[in-house]
Amino acid sequence: MNPMTDRLHVLTELVYELQIPRELDEILESIVEHAAVLVETQRVSIRLLDPSRTKLIASVRAGTPLHEDPSVEFRLGEGLMGWIAKHARPIRSGNATMDRRFAHRPGMKDEMGSFIGVPLLAGSVCMGVLSAVHEQEHYFSEEHEQVMLLVAGICGPYLEIARLSRLARVDPLTGALNRRGLEGAFPDEPIDDSGIVRPLSVVITDVDRFKEINDRFGHAVGDEAIKGVAQLLSTVLRVGDAVVRYGGDEFVLLLPGVDLAQAGRIAERAQEMIQKLEIDLGEMKLKLTASMGVAERLSGESRGDLIKRADEALYEAKQAGRNRVRLAEKKPSPPHP
Ligand code: GH3
Ligand code: MG
Repeated sequence: MNPMTDRLHVLTELVYELQIPRELDEILESIVEHAAVLVETQRVSIRLLDPSRTKLIASVRAGTPLHEDPSVEFRLGEGLMGWIAKHARPIRSGNATMDRRFAHRPGMKDEMGSFIGVPLLAGSVCMGVLSAVHEQEHYFSEEHEQVMLLVAGICGPYLEIARLSRLARVDPLTGALNRRGLEGAFPDEPIDDSGIVRPLSVVITDVDRFKEINDRFGHAVGDEAIKGVAQLLSTVLRVGDAVVRYGGDEFVLLLPGVDLAQAGRIAERAQEMIQKLEIDLGEMKLKLTASMGVAERLSGESRGDLIKRADEALYEAKQAGRNRVRLAEKKPSPPHP
């Protein structure tokens, strides 16, 4: 690579891409792809600290993973990655496995060779580590390190903005949208390009007798059950649909382009899948059921009124004995006295 002109070109492209509003995952991908070109290696990755700031989680990588188990994690202070995150300082090593800070892990597929890692900072707080690896020893120059520091410096503030905006919209336990996320995902006027009003349906699902699960097995098991339900619900969705954690054990499926009958079938499928779900508790498996209420948006109906009708259908499903789906009638519910 022509040292100056080509690198400037790649950096300019990266800065341009960072300025387009994007999801955190897309920003991370763009960073590792550009960094890989800039430091002339295949393997570049970003690990971000989890919200409790105790471990670094692999968030995105360019090139094949170095470990057989790509989900391998490093605690703060552990290994080269952990050292960088803890001290907010870079490491460049010509022979990474010989570095006294290197943490050996079983199942490393290739020799690691050379390594550069730089902290990703939001102010003085480290958010994660951007790192590059090359199988050849003593491969990376001081210039490579400078470029990595420059990339990390440029990207830090953009990553922080994307991370905070995601935190505000996503439920940390399940990864589903939260109520604020629902506001952004709810289409105002579901009219397509040809002026036709597209239907929009919602399914509200609530786990049956969930309090008993908490009481019998504890909150940690309850949390696992909620995560299991969220994961399963996301498998019945198509692109454009959304799953929202609406309350403790309550989820809303947002289904644009789907009418009441179709939404009812989707809900039936989800309800049957939840019946078959088994939450692994080690020596035993936990089974659960859920009830669902389905409603299709009436012309001009607000988000709140639509969800209210679905909630009333859910209440009917609970009253009728739980573990079933009920459809809301296609007329407004009477106002409460
Ligand atoms: P029903 O069949 O009528 O829905 O009975 P239920 O016991 O599921 O009652 P309900 O849906 O009203 O209660 C939900 C319970 O979920 C109440 C609360 O203790 C529990 N919960 C709420 N959020 C969480 C959470 O994040 N984790 C865990 N473990 N439990 C939660
Ligand atoms: Mg419940």
